Amino acid sequence: MDFDLTPEQARFREDLRGFLDAEVPVEKQEVFGMLTEEQYQFGRGINRKLAERDWLAVGWPREHGGGGKGPIEQGILAEDLGYRRVPKSGFIGLGIVGPAIRVFGSPEQKEQYLPPIARGEVEYCQGFSEPNVGSDLASLELRAERRGDEYVLNGFKMFTSYAYHADYIYLLARTDPQAQKHRGISLFIADLKTPGISLQPLLYINGEMAAQTFFDDVHLPLSCLIGEENRGWYHAMTTLDYERSGLGIYGSVRRVFDDFVDFCQQPAPDGGRALAEHPLVRHQLAQHRLAMENWKLLCWKVAWWQSSGAVPNAEASVAFLYGTEQRFKFAEMAMEVLGPYATLRHGSPLAPLLGNIEGIHREAMHLHGAGIMEIHRNIIAQRGLGLPR
Ligand SMILES: Cc1cc2nc3c(=O)[nH]c(=O)nc-3n(C[C@H](O)[C@H](O)[C@H](O)COP(=O)(O)OP(=O)(O)OC[C@H]3O[C@@H](n4cnc5c(N)ncnc54)[C@H](O)[C@@H]3O)c2cc1C
Repeated sequence: MDFDLTPEQARFREDLRGFLDAEVPVEKQEVFGMLTEEQYQFGRGINRKLAERDWLAVGWPREHGGGGKGPIEQGILAEDLGYRRVPKSGFIGLGIVGPAIRVFGSPEQKEQYLPPIARGEVEYCQGFSEPNVGSDLASLELRAERRGDEYVLNGFKMFTSYAYHADYIYLLARTDPQAQKHRGISLFIADLKTPGISLQPLLYINGEMAAQTFFDDVHLPLSCLIGEENRGWYHAMTTLDYERSGLGIYGSVRRVFDDFVDFCQQPAPDGGRALAEHPLVRHQLAQHRLAMENWKLLCWKVAWWQSSGAVPNAEASVAFLYGTEQRFKFAEMAMEVLGPYATLRHGSPLAPLLGNIEGIHREAMHLHGAGIMEIHRNIIAQRGLGLPR
């Protein structure tokens, strides 16, 4: 693994940081657990400005509307956007749907779907989970029945993050109910304005509004199928690995950690000793610094593997599992060190670090986002260690 950036990559990071310094003042940065509509729109605006410079899909090939660089530059972008707490938008299109279409899409689909993602014009959501189906995703029930030159969809999806901002849903549906469960599933993209699709609000613990998505006799043309019919499970599993390198999450948590270290060095408001003068706090900060560095290296290892042309699978699970647990441990430690004030939310004048500690603590409860921890342990055991199923 090569730890050095090339001179071109280092220059890209410098230029990007100059852009973010100018465009993302502190008052526009996202506070954990508080994504308002205004912040979301601000994040979309930044994406469009990045796209004007060919930086949004910087790692994609030029013919797909990207910047012609690679996964390292895409990782630099993710980490820095996270660290500047640029409100999140567009990342399902960029991180999951785009890579899937690049690998499995037809030439027409590449032309239709990829450039608008690279320009920051469209938002996607992901419809995999269902009310009865989470970790055992291959048991999904949403039915896509082929009738002549279209598919007709009936059923529902659960935990559809970003559905209220999205233009399209990228989903898995059962196309062959007779086949073994993994072999009867296909991948689709559907315009959320298609008649028969409706949303019911679903509030997450981090304050984000997601949805339950209903499909009631939804007619889709055959061109909405991505990749081969009944191979959707295998296509989706490959592209889920793109979601799991986690540099964006690392960057955003690292920023709160760095702010927390600064905060601990300030004198107490009553003129008392700074928190960092307490030996137990110092040791906690040192221990978490160690863990943050480990997390960063694991994420960069995934990006490096991707840059060498591999699809790192067990490595992505290692980084994701480690990061999700580290985020939780850091949030718990910060709450304990700050005491009751840490429970104050953004908006309270006494909330430390703008309420980011309270927000990150709520966010850290999301141990399920891209697969439960047990599933990641299974992946590491089987694919990383070669243990039997
Ligand atoms: C913040 C957030 C955002 C999400 N966004 C999306 C999204 O945009 N699109 C989407 O499709 N889904 C999304 N999800 C859903 C997510 O993918 C599921 O929550 C996840 O797959 C787990 O499914 P489940 O919640 O049904 O839990 P289950 O699979 O029912 O698991 C519940 C518990 O059962 C145990 N368990 C289950 N299976 C095993 C096993 N094999 N071995 C050991 N123990 C096991 C574990 O203790 C686990 O915690 C989101 C979830 C969250 C929390």
